[in-house]
Amino acid sequence: MSQEAKIIRGSCLCEAVKYEIHGAPFTFRVCHCVNCRKATGTAFMSNGFFSRDQVRVIEGPEKVKIFEDKKTTSGVALARQFCSECGSNVFITSTDPEQSKKFIIVALGTLDQETNWLPKTELFEDQRRHWVNGIHLLTKQRL
Ligand SMILES: [Zn+2]
Ligand SMILES: [Zn+2]
Repeated sequence: MSQEAKIIRGSCLCEAVKYEIHGAPFTFRVCHCVNCRKATGTAFMSNGFFSRDQVRVIEGPEKVKIFEDKKTTSGVALARQFCSECGSNVFITSTDPEQSKKFIIVALGTLDQETNWLPKTELFEDQRRHWVNGIHLLTKQRL
């Protein structure tokens, strides 16, 4: 089975919201921005970018609530989507309807399976916690 055909499953903490991903992300970015830290309650967020047709919510779409995050570092408003039962951040989409059709970001911390995907870039490294001492990036050269 090719990587492209593989289905990866994920869910929120309480499993009210379940989704499946078809194929690999077109990009994968670790985000150190303060809003991603606050939204997830941890040091950084692992954001996998997929085209809309790659991601399907298979359980609990009605449990998904949206927080419209207008005060982002980039200045672009984001719809942070979380489970209303357990609070897990699961998806991020654009608040712009046209952009929102193009891609969906999956919080890869909610994957139920391990994958071989590696982040391509880190975002907002200036906001990275000083004790986060390196991310295994796809392009990282080993000295
Ligand atoms: Zn939940
Ligand atoms: Zn962020």
